[in-house]
Parts: sequence; structure tokens; C-alpha cells
Amino acid sequence: MTKLCAVYGVSGCGRSLMPIARQQLAREQDASEIVFIDDALTDIAMVNGHRAMNYAQFLKEQTSEKSVLIAIANSRVREKLANRLSEDGIALWSVVADNAVLMDETDIAEGCAISPFVSITSNIKIGKCFHANLYSYVEHDCVIGDFVTFAPGVKCNGNIHIEDHAYIGAGAVIKQGTPEKPLVIGKGAIVGMGAVVTKSVPAGVTVVGNPARIVEPK
Ligand code: UDP
Repeated sequence: MTKLCAVYGVSGCGRSLMPIARQQLAREQDASEIVFIDDALTDIAMVNGHRAMNYAQFLKEQTSEKSVLIAIANSRVREKLANRLSEDGIALWSVVADNAVLMDETDIAEGCAISPFVSITSNIKIGKCFHANLYSYVEHDCVIGDFVTFAPGVKCNGNIHIEDHAYIGAGAVIKQGTPEKPLVIGKGAIVGMGAVVTKSVPAGVTVVGNPARIVEPK
């Protein structure tokens, strides 16, 4: 019996990450099949050349080893699915694009999706199921929590701490902190696309604009 790999989610995120997953297996000279999992599917279908099935069907697949990349942008959904996979004894799969740059002492937990043209520079710590979309970078000495999501083109400069479940929108720029006083993006905060973040952002709020300001709930 062989290994079976899967990309969980057949929407935009999943279909964009599948080629990266394929690229990684080719790089590792691993001939394992990669399937899509999506709970909206009732029957096994073909999507972009791969078998696609729901989770119950995936569980029935007879293989000795299964690993799954959760390719869904919503971090709460990623957490729910990661917990389910863990209960079922299925490993989280990390996928890194061929041309991504990872420098020294990058400690990235399981289940990450590192897209093409992403740079993770030196002395970085990142938690579970991190998504770094196209052209994003993480500069030196950053600490990133679990289930954090970067849309494309996020500029995360040095000495920034990003807490669990934060979402950073496309093209946002976050000003660097210092070792004594890192700039902190709080748990579950949302940074709007194109925002220029010049100071720490409290947990749970949304910031937009240049300089980024908190959007008050209506
Ligand atoms: N999905 C799933 N199981 C869940 C929650 C979501 O299979 O418990 C799938 C959902 O059917 C959809 C995808 O995940 O196909 C999420 O797609 P969406 O367009 O919301 O976002 P994306 O993450 O691709 O940007």
C-alpha cells in the first residue's frame, strides 16, 4: 500500500495550491497520488486532472499513509479541519513552492502553504497551517502564531509578532519593530489590503488605510 496526499479545498485556494503540491512531490521524486478533498462533493469527480472526493470518501481510501494540506483561506475552518485530521491520525502536509526562499533558522510548524515567490528570511518562527500567498515575505526575527494567513504580496518586516488567526490582506505593509519592542498584530486581527501598519494592532480589530486605523464596527 502506498502513500496518498491530499489538498483539502477545491475552491480558489485549493486549485492554486495543487500545482505547488505537485511540484513538491516531483522535486522529492515521490510518485504518490494527490487528490482533492472537499465536503461539498457528493460523488468522486475529476478536478484539474486529480480525483476529488469528500472527507468520508477520503477516509475510506486504502493506503498505509495519508497526509493533507488544508488549502482553505478561512483560518477557523483550517483549525477545525486540522483538529479533525489529528483525531483521525492523519498528518498535516506542508507544501513549499520550488522557488520560495527559506533562509537560516526558519522554524515552520506543520501544514504550511508557501506559495511561489515567497521569502522567509532568517531566524523566523511560524506556527501551524500558515498560508503565505504569492510574493509575500517575512523578514528577520518575526514570530508568527498558528493559523495565520497572508494574502498575496504581504510585506512583513523584521521583529514583528503576529498572533494566532490574524489575516493580512493583499499588499499590506507592516512596519518593522525592534528586538526590545516588536510590532504586534493581535490575535484574530484583520489587516485590510494595501494597509500601511505603523504601530501594533490590538487583538480582534480590523485596520485599513495609510497609516492603518481601526475600523469601528457599525
Ligand atoms: N470546505 C470543506 N469543508 C469545510 C469547509 C469548507 O470542504 O468544512 C470547502 C468548501 O466546500 C469550499 C472550500 O472549502 O470548496 C472553501 O472555499 P472558499 O471559496 O470559501 O475559499 P478559498 O479558501 O478557496 O479562498
